Amino acid sequence: MSEPLNLRRLTIMPTLKCTLRCKLCSNYMTMFKNPEHVPTDELIRDIDRVFELVDYTEWLQFVGGEVFMRQDLGKVYEHCLDYKDKFDHLILITNATILPCKNDIAVFRKYGKHMQIQISDYGKHSPKAAAMAALLQENGIPFVVKRYHGDLQHYGGWVDNTHFEEHGKSEEALRKQFQHCGQVAMRNFHMYRGKMHGCARSLMASTLGKITPAARDVVDLYDKTETDEEKREKIRHFNDSPRVSCRSCISFGENVERFPAAEQL
Ligand code: SF4
Repeated sequence: MSEPLNLRRLTIMPTLKCTLRCKLCSNYMTMFKNPEHVPTDELIRDIDRVFELVDYTEWLQFVGGEVFMRQDLGKVYEHCLDYKDKFDHLILITNATILPCKNDIAVFRKYGKHMQIQISDYGKHSPKAAAMAALLQENGIPFVVKRYHGDLQHYGGWVDNTHFEEHGKSEEALRKQFQHCGQVAMRNFHMYRGKMHGCARSLMASTLGKITPAARDVVDLYDKTETDEEKREKIRHFNDSPRVSCRSCISFGENVERFPAAEQL
């Protein structure tokens, strides 16, 4: 029996569609020509499959795009309850442009304290922020509001990580950048359409075709040429050393220049 595969954060992207068009979107939503919602049966299949490989994750996150554009994800969140012994918190991140539907609220209530909605409040671009906070409060659904407007923005604002040219960094510089990367510290593994990467940039830059990830940077949940134990071993070692995506990344360290969040194209 191999050692358990315990993660910190596992993020699933159920949609590439968004209600906003943020210039510096760190998931590059505006760069997709035909953004799509992932069908719910596919999401459920991926969740079943990933929990065959992963023993536990502290946070199971759903991030878009904007998750509340969809009114059909309640059955996916409900399905995740079948794995409630395999994760501690369901986390959803929203830009507060659309309120969650009644069905979502009914499912969220079943999670009790084992979930959290993270509201990114972009000021005038988040017109439902106050109403959403009130709705969640009324239903006893845990939430936090991250302020991304005016002075004192969360994390000092956003970074501009929208370029993909390699910077010719030395191995040593790459290693240092990797060691100080917030995404690495958070072990924020990301998944879209059956592919898991060690960070959002590696996943999305690969999905966009901007980079070709190394074999060690990605696990295809359905790849029959690898055993499940080989996949588990790759996931275990995602954060051992810099990935291909790091070569063009400005990283998310504290000293990287910040810009106002959610400026629209
Ligand atoms: S590409 Fe590398 S440096 Fe950039 S977020 Fe991912 S792990 Fe961090």
